[in-house]
Amino acid sequence: MGMLQAGIIPVTPFEQNCTVLFDQDTKEGVIVDPGGDVDVILQTIRENGIKLHAIWLTHGHLDHAGGAMELKEALGLDIIGPHKDDEPLLSALEAQAQRFGAQMTVRNAVPDRWLEEGETLSFGDHEFEVFHTPGHAPGHVIFFNAKQKFAHLGDVLFSGSIGRTDLPGGNHQQLLDSIKNKVLPLGDDIGFICGHGPGGQIGNERRTNPFLTGI
Ligand SMILES: [Zn+2]
Ligand SMILES: [Zn+2]
Repeated sequence: MGMLQAGIIPVTPFEQNCTVLFDQDTKEGVIVDPGGDVDVILQTIRENGIKLHAIWLTHGHLDHAGGAMELKEALGLDIIGPHKDDEPLLSALEAQAQRFGAQMTVRNAVPDRWLEEGETLSFGDHEFEVFHTPGHAPGHVIFFNAKQKFAHLGDVLFSGSIGRTDLPGGNHQQLLDSIKNKVLPLGDDIGFICGHGPGGQIGNERRTNPFLTGI
């Protein structure tokens, strides 16, 4: 069993970071947030010989979950997560796409399993702790691998920014609380990937992110 590797496939007009987490030796892994462009995802998976075990969702927004059902059916995978508080979002993805006028193929998504705070997910030897981090979306979860000092933060925290809170179910104070109580305590030396733009390091965000001043 080798190191955890992460590859990003930019998908949808929202340039969402669909992420493949996999073991560098066995090529076994999972895909996080297949928002769309499922043909591109499938091609990338095939070209790199990745053996996918599941689809993990951080939250129920269009750009993260819009391609989940299509990918589930193409590869026979379970959709795992997010927290059940995002059910109203996942069952309205097609309506969301219409409202945004998004030029993308979208299907409403029905997860095979909801996630709760404190659960552990794994593939091979790689274990990820689940944290429920509402604020950007009510059922948002993040995935934390302590051993390899890595977290997938979805749309909670970005490099130099934080998730928007003006969408249905969003709450600014709740998002700041999630960052303060769930994300920052993971540790300054934790590297992260997020839903949009470049990743970073939690300590660097704690020190320099203007949205975190005074929390
Ligand atoms: Zn989002
Ligand atoms: Zn997003």
